[in-house]
Parts: sequence; structure tokens; C-alpha cells
Amino acid sequence: MHVMVIGGGLLGLTTAFSLRRHGLSVSLLEQETGPGRATSFANGGMLHASQANPWNEPGVFWHALKMLGKEDAALLVRYKALPSLLGWGMQFVRHSRPDRYLHNFEQNARLAAYSLACMRELRAAVGSDYDYSARGTLKLFRSPEAVAGAATMCRQLSEWGVRFEAVNGQRAVELEPALGRIESLLAGGLYFPDDEAGDAQAFCALLAGACVARGVRIEYGVKIDRLLRSGDRIEGVLGSRGLQTADAYVLAAGPWSAPLAAGIGLKLPLRPVKGYSLTLCAHGWAGRPGLPVIDDSLHAAVCPLGDRLRVAGTAEFTGFDLTLTPGRINNLFSLATQLYPDFAPHLDREAAVRWCGLRPMSSDGVALMGPTPLHNLYLNTGHGQLGWTLAAGAGQLVADQIARQSPALDPAPYQLARFG
Ligand SMILES: Cc1cc2nc3c(=O)[nH]c(=O)nc-3n(C[C@H](O)[C@H](O)[C@H](O)COP(=O)(O)OP(=O)(O)OC[C@H]3O[C@@H](n4cnc5c(N)ncnc54)[C@H](O)[C@@H]3O)c2cc1C
Repeated sequence: MHVMVIGGGLLGLTTAFSLRRHGLSVSLLEQETGPGRATSFANGGMLHASQANPWNEPGVFWHALKMLGKEDAALLVRYKALPSLLGWGMQFVRHSRPDRYLHNFEQNARLAAYSLACMRELRAAVGSDYDYSARGTLKLFRSPEAVAGAATMCRQLSEWGVRFEAVNGQRAVELEPALGRIESLLAGGLYFPDDEAGDAQAFCALLAGACVARGVRIEYGVKIDRLLRSGDRIEGVLGSRGLQTADAYVLAAGPWSAPLAAGIGLKLPLRPVKGYSLTLCAHGWAGRPGLPVIDDSLHAAVCPLGDRLRVAGTAEFTGFDLTLTPGRINNLFSLATQLYPDFAPHLDREAAVRWCGLRPMSSDGVALMGPTPLHNLYLNTGHGQLGWTLAAGAGQLVADQIARQSPALDPAPYQLARFG
């Protein structure tokens, strides 16, 4: 059987690799000139089962309403995006009901834990030359109320196998001495020892190489304009290299999966949510941090990648617009130095790599993986803010279903059919 994967980001590549391991013939089509050039390019760098909670947590509707149109909000909904969010937005809000939220949180947490185990197997194939580190994640809170709220979430996580340690300011500084200057501002924190970090694009490049070495045919610079449907199956894809065909197809085109699927009458509950990152050189700063840190009150994360710091954050509903808004970039500069005041004299703003990407966000906060009503079309998309964390497990889970092998996790909670 020949399977064609559409999309060469984290999810397309892990799927292609796992399919090939099952002995299937695999090709992958990607419109960019190399692997991991879209949303997987410069994400936050953290593989964090500890942050598996969907973004549509209880109360999200009122929060989003307050933030509507506010340029400096961590979660910004632009007025122009409202029409495209109507149906999806209602589902997003519906899934913030406490019971739904908890159910979806659990699906993410279980997949994330499985995925970290699968990453170990992938590392055996690709090595760890992607600024890999396994020092855990530290999440910081600046108010006692936030610490108390987080404690509830952690009780859930520990039931699902995610280990954590509650820390005070002093312990936080012990874990990451670069936080010393802000110790007095910290109300508490949580340390998750099993989380990992790494550069997603570098990993994509290594995995693409491993795929090719094992016989996957990867074609870059091929833009798929549309899928060709005949009855309940896909006949082929039509793109910049004409008609290309296979026995089965995996749509792993990130947020662009939705318009491609819409072209064949398949509605995916998926919208792009824009986020920004800065990659800063910290080579000259002897006291630079080594531990990925999330500052809950600043809505930002700073992740060390070798001698660079990746600062990522913010969510913006603005359709497929990839404009780098200067205000939001400046905000990230300021967040980096609020967390690490000692970094300010070493910060080279000119050399900073500014980036934004579109998270493929499903309306319930759980990815869309596996079969569709078209019997030879499969999905691997919708991993939202968790695509780096979930990629290895998601690729395996989708490949298992295509190869008719029994998956390690029940695939039903991740399938499109859950939307009825
Ligand atoms: C600011 C930011 C920070 C993040 N931080 C983290 C983090 O710390 N941890 C974490 O787990 N996740 C994080 N994420 C989420 C994660 O990066 C994404 O979920 C993940 O990259 C999605 O991968 P993907 O393969 O689905 O999509 P992509 O990487 O976008 O891959 C899809 C590919 O399909 C290709 N494609 C699209 N349309 C076509 C077409 N018509 N023809 C051919 N090719 C096509 C695209 O060019 C692209 O390469 C972050 C995201 C952002 C934006």
C-alpha cells in the first residue's frame, strides 16, 4: 500500500516515519523548500505533558470577550476574525463546560505521556542533535490565588501519570539560579521533572533525513491545490506537479488542512491561532538559564535551546494572517527581561529572530487524528499549542490505524467521528 502524507511539519514527518516503520510505501509532499518551515519552525521548544490542558478552560468565553480587540491582550480576538469563528467559537465555548474540559484535558495528558515515550524511540533513530534537553519545566506564579488554582490542575495531572513538585521561590531559584533577581516576586511554582525541550525545526530536519534514509520519498516545493474526491474516496491530489495518486492519504497540513478538506466537502472544526516567538542569542551571558520556564502571570515561556533563548507566547485569532505585528514582538522582548532582568545588558535586539506561526486549533482542544468519512483519507492535525509535545505519539497512533495494527491508546477520542 502506498500512503501519501500531505505536509512536512512535525505531524506529517512523524506520521511518515511511523508508516514506513510499518513497512508501507510512503511519499510526503510539502509546499515549502524544506521540512518544518511553517508552524513547526520556531515554536516554544517545550515538550510538556504538564501543559496538556486545553485552552478552552471554564470561563474562557468571558475572558475572550473582555479581551476583544485589545492589542496587548495575551489572548487577542480581532474583530475581523469574528465571522470565521462563529460556529467553531460556539463549539469552543461549549467544550469549556467543566466536565467536557476535564475529559479533553485527560485525552491530551494521556497522549502527551505516550508521546514522550515515543520520542525516546525516535531519538534512537535521529539522535539528539536538536538542542535536546531533559531538565523538566518550571511554571511560576506571582499570586497566591494562581498557586491555589494550579494545585487543582496538578491533582488531575498526577492521576494521569504526570509527576510534579510544588516549589517556593527559594526552591525555584535553586532549580534555576538565573531567577535569583525575581525571587521576591514569586508566590510559588510547580516543577515538572519529566518534560523535555528541543528545537522543533532542527528535529524536523533530522527526522526528514531519517525518513529518506529509510525509503520515504519526500518532495519539497509541491503545493497541493485540491484533493480530488470520487464518492467516498480520494482519487488523487492536484497541485503544482499535476495529478499525484496513492492508495491512502494523510492530511497533515497544519491549519491549512481545514481549507483543503473543505474543498471536498469535509468540514474540520479547526481554526488558525497565531502565536509569536523570539530567538535570542544568550552566548555572552555567563549566567544564562538552562531550564525551560513558564511565567503564568506574564503568559510567556522562555526555553533555552543550546546558547539561544526561545521566548514564546500570546494567542491571536486573526485568520491566516502571518503579519509580524511590532507591538506583540516588543511585548516578548519585555517579557524576557521581566523574567530575567540580568539578561537586559546582553540582549541584542538586532540579532533576534522574530517569528510567528499559526497553531492548528480544534474546537474542543483535542487533536483530529485517524479516519474520516472518506475511507482512504486520514487526518493528523489540530494539535494546537501542543503539536511538539504530541507529535511522536500522534504519528505512531495514526500510522497504527492505517497499517491496521492495534494502537497503544484507544484512538476513538481523537477521531473526527467524535463530533458526530
Ligand atoms: C508561538 C508558538 C509556540 C508554540 N510552542 C509550542 C511548545 O512549546 N510546545 C508544543 O508542544 N507545541 C508548541 N506549539 C505548537 C506546535 O508548534 C504546532 O502544534 C505544530 O508545529 C503543528 O505542526 P503541524 O505539522 O500540524 O503543522 P505545520 O508545522 O504547519 O506543518 C504543516 C505543513 O503542511 C504544509 N502545507 C500546508 N498546506 C499545504 C499544501 N496545500 N500543499 C503542500 N503542503 C502544504 C505547510 O507548508 C507545513 O509545512 C507552538 C506554536 C506556536 C505558534
